Amino acid sequence: MWLWWNKTETQLVLFVTAVKGGHMCGIFGAFNCDHAAHVVFLGLHGIQHRAKEFAGIVSSDGTNLFRRTGPGIVQDVFRDPGDLERLHGRVAFGHIRYATTEDDPKLDNTQPIMGSFESMEMAIAHNGNLVNHAELRSELAAHGRFKTSLDTEVILRLFCLSSAKDVFARVFDAVRCLRGSYSLIFLWNDMMVAVRDPWGNRPLALGRRGASWFLSSETISFDTLGIAAVREVAPGEILVISKQGISSRYFDEERLSDQPIPHERAQCIFELLYYANPGSKVFGQHVWEFRIRAGRRLCVLCPSLGDAVVGVPDSALFHADGYAAAWEMVPVRGLLRSHYVGRTFVEGVQKLRESAVARKFVPVFALLWGRAVTLIEDSIVRLTTLPEVVRLVRRGGAREVHARVATPPITHPCRYGIDTPDPRELAAANHSVEEIRVLAGVDSLAFMPMEGLKGLVPNPRDYCFACMDGNYRI
Ligand code: SF4
Repeated sequence: MWLWWNKTETQLVLFVTAVKGGHMCGIFGAFNCDHAAHVVFLGLHGIQHRAKEFAGIVSSDGTNLFRRTGPGIVQDVFRDPGDLERLHGRVAFGHIRYATTEDDPKLDNTQPIMGSFESMEMAIAHNGNLVNHAELRSELAAHGRFKTSLDTEVILRLFCLSSAKDVFARVFDAVRCLRGSYSLIFLWNDMMVAVRDPWGNRPLALGRRGASWFLSSETISFDTLGIAAVREVAPGEILVISKQGISSRYFDEERLSDQPIPHERAQCIFELLYYANPGSKVFGQHVWEFRIRAGRRLCVLCPSLGDAVVGVPDSALFHADGYAAAWEMVPVRGLLRSHYVGRTFVEGVQKLRESAVARKFVPVFALLWGRAVTLIEDSIVRLTTLPEVVRLVRRGGAREVHARVATPPITHPCRYGIDTPDPRELAAANHSVEEIRVLAGVDSLAFMPMEGLKGLVPNPRDYCFACMDGNYRI
């Protein structure tokens, strides 16, 4: 537990960080599918950009569950052909997550995690983060020792302790007390259940190929596997997939209903700006298209003096396309990305992040030499990437470097699953824009204004902007 003095709002903020779990993750499920575990492997591979430090798959042959999890990307965990062969059955689901400083190395914090109820094995995987997990955990401690430090285990316990016979009622018992962010997959016997929290904070999509059903954090996995994206799992929906087909009921914090229940939404705007693959459709919007519009808006609201627009690859390339288009320019690919170094954001330790940045980008000298470069960045979180990138661009011969950032300053930690928990690490929580400009080493710096960002979505009330405005609505 630690205290944080928020100098911009002159308020004392108390955070409890003793137990953490959900964090940024990805989930994928396959139902009634040949080689289900293999398909889940490929599905997780398609969303590997979301997390890369742990992976796991659980399958079911209709009675027994089979589990394999471990550290690394999915290709590391399922290295031998036999690793997937041993995950029997036509139903399977998996999870990827990244490590956090709160992880207890003595505990198995990989997902999916398993439990049992009514003499049946069950498993669960979670994308998101619960804000009331500590209270729930202490209430549930009387029922035995927790095996992980994951908030997900709270949901598993609530599910297994329920006495409800009806599937929907049992799942509702598991989620009705939860506060925070959760997209979930449950599996037991030959039944798979998907749940999205009533606020719809994290995405979860439903796909279909013939008689097979699929679930994924992002539609990009469907596209690569020839699966048709059917729709999103709705906020507050419990979707049961069984041999009988699919059926849904809906819930909020109070009740379970046959009809969707109107509820405020708080979809994570950061998914659209940075996190999701540009090829995915998230919250009903094509991510690439959103980023182009964000770039255009950034150009109108924060014009620059440069003569070359260069996007920081890969995540800001579409923003840069939009920025350049609004300026009637063609973006310049003055920076290339080495694909043999992972995304810096998901590295667990600051030192690793910094060395990874230097290895990640390659300046194209011929395109940068003598230019006044406007660098387009999607966001500044810890100010890890930008100073290194600016050094590379100057080394490439740029005579000026201006930075334009498509996200307003990130001044607050995310409590809903993106790993920016410590405000001391957030550049904009500790420095003015001018201080960040100096630290980044750029000639000018501007961030997307908050109103500019809100104008990009149909109804800003449906989105969470808490890491930028401190308004934690969930
Ligand atoms: Fe997304 Fe920021 Fe809200 Fe977290 S606080 S859910 S990162 S918008």
